[in-house]
Formats: sequence, structure tokens, C-alpha cells
Amino acid sequence: MKSTETSILQANPRRAVFLDRDGTIIEDRGDLSDPAQVVFFKNTTPALRRLADHFALFIVTNQSGVAKGTITLEDVQRVNNYVEKHLAVAGAPIVATYVCPHQRSSGCKCIKPNAYFLKEAEREFGIDLRRSFVIGDHPHDVEFAAQSDATGIYVLSGHGIKHRAGIPAGTTVVEGISEATDLILASVSAPQTGRRGGGQLETTAPPTPFLGLRRGGTKLRLFWETA
Ligand SMILES: [Mg+2]
Ligand SMILES: [Zn+2]
Repeated sequence: MKSTETSILQANPRRAVFLDRDGTIIEDRGDLSDPAQVVFFKNTTPALRRLADHFALFIVTNQSGVAKGTITLEDVQRVNNYVEKHLAVAGAPIVATYVCPHQRSSGCKCIKPNAYFLKEAEREFGIDLRRSFVIGDHPHDVEFAAQSDATGIYVLSGHGIKHRAGIPAGTTVVEGISEATDLILASVSAPQTGRRGGGQLETTAPPTPFLGLRRGGTKLRLFWETA
């Protein structure tokens, strides 16, 4: 990133929504190796388009099938490229897609719920994590948010119902991506009296353009060292 862009971003920290992939924006059909296997939830595109007006959008996905050998990194990249392209065409561009290709047993730093990729987005894109959200269908997704002061929202799509007993008390639970979006946008437009300077209606200001942040291709961020 050019230094001018960095300084602009640091001066205007952006809020972001970090999206889990499988079971949150597309159906969880196990390890996907081919774009033809991708099935978007019907509410995903309109929801993310609404979010994109106010938030930088990221995808953060654990793909342990790579470490297990059932899929390759190239498979994951092809699928992610397809997902990104579909969303970009629909008006909901993804700033970056972060992938952990490891198995939990390897003790890597980047697997959710470790906050590794949230911190990276904070550093690289000037994201204000305290004003950002994580949406996901696994308890690790809400824990991921909690690790960094972001707000986690648990969705009952994907494996959400199956793992519901594993989420901490007080977790916000909604049906799916559309309801999560409603909740987030309500928080953006609600008067924030007494908070962060008070009474700022963020919807009244046009969103800061993503200077230099839009780009093609999935960003595969790998961290091969073990903790
Ligand atoms: Mg998931
Ligand atoms: Zn990892």
C-alpha cells in the first residue's frame, strides 16, 4: 500500500464486517474444491450489498481440508475467487479473504478463534475493530470477535443450530445473514448519545471510499509456523 493511502486510512479508521464463509454466506457442503459447488444463501447478496455501504467487508475462513489433504490451496483460492467475483458484481466487494489452511492440532496462530487475521486487517487496512463485527455459524466465530473487542453475531444457518449449545451466554443469535445485517445497520443508524463524541449519525456521512483497497483475487494469508 502506498504511504498516502496508509496515512488516510490511519486518520479514518474504518469499521468492518468479518464474514465466515461456509454456513454463513454460502451453504456448508464440506470441503469445497470447485466453484460449481458454491451455493449462496438467497439473502446473502442483498444483505452484503447493504453492509458494503457502511463497512469494509472481509471473509475469514478456516479450511482445514488443505492440511488434511482433501482439497488443495489452489482449490480454495478458486472457490474464493468465485465468491469474491460474484459479490463484487453484485455491489458487495470483499476487501480481502483470509484463509487458515491448517488443522487445529497443528497449533497455528491463524486458525479462528485466534484473532490473528483481525489484527492483520486492523494493521493493513486501518480497521477499527471495536466498531466492527464478526458474523459466523460456529462458536469459534463469536469467540474470534471477543478476542479483539469486535462484536460477534451468531447465525443459525449452516451448523449454527448444531453448535448452539457451545456459544457463550449473552451471545447475539439471529436466523441468518439478513437478520445479522439488520441488526448491524440498526446499530449504525441509532443515535449514539454519549458514546464516541455523542449523537453521530454515521449514515448521514457518505462512506469514505476504499482508496486502493479494491483488488482482484483472493488474498491467501498463510501462517505456516506453529505457535
Ligand atoms: Mg462456518
Ligand atoms: Zn492456521
